[in-house]
Amino acid sequence: MAFDDLLAANQTYAADFHHGGFDGIARAGVAMVTCMDSRIDPLRMIGLEPGDAKILRNPGGRVTDQVLVAVVLGVTLLQVRRVMVVQHTRCAMASAPEEELQARVSTATGTDASWMTLGAITDQEATIRADVHKVESHPLVPDDIEVAGFVYDVDSGLLRPVA
Ligand SMILES: [Zn+2]
Repeated sequence: MAFDDLLAANQTYAADFHHGGFDGIARAGVAMVTCMDSRIDPLRMIGLEPGDAKILRNPGGRVTDQVLVAVVLGVTLLQVRRVMVVQHTRCAMASAPEEELQARVSTATGTDASWMTLGAITDQEATIRADVHKVESHPLVPDDIEVAGFVYDVDSGLLRPVA
């Protein structure tokens, strides 16, 4: 079966599981919006563990409408007090214009992908600032919630504040 190796690993994981019984609050009061990139380990990069934070991931680490819903739920019901918007160096979403990303998907699938908005990022720092503003200015995000934007360097592991 296609998932046997992963299910076997899950058995090992569950045998030593110690996170049972927690509620769904973010114990460290943190939410992080970040990219789906496999080089990013969102909890460990800021010294947290399961149970501590809400992690919201998508291509590029963008504050989409659905991410805003999650942030609103986090800050109103799940004890999130600080929101980090974390994009990263060498991100595929910031590597090419939208049309080129669409062309790459089209080539990979043999099916036209030009109808799908992929969300290419042309100016990463400007995008982060705009995304931070989207969170800060949202009418359902209280004024005392701290919001900041960062670029994560996938080669050094360091976060650089940008907004
Ligand atoms: Zn990325």
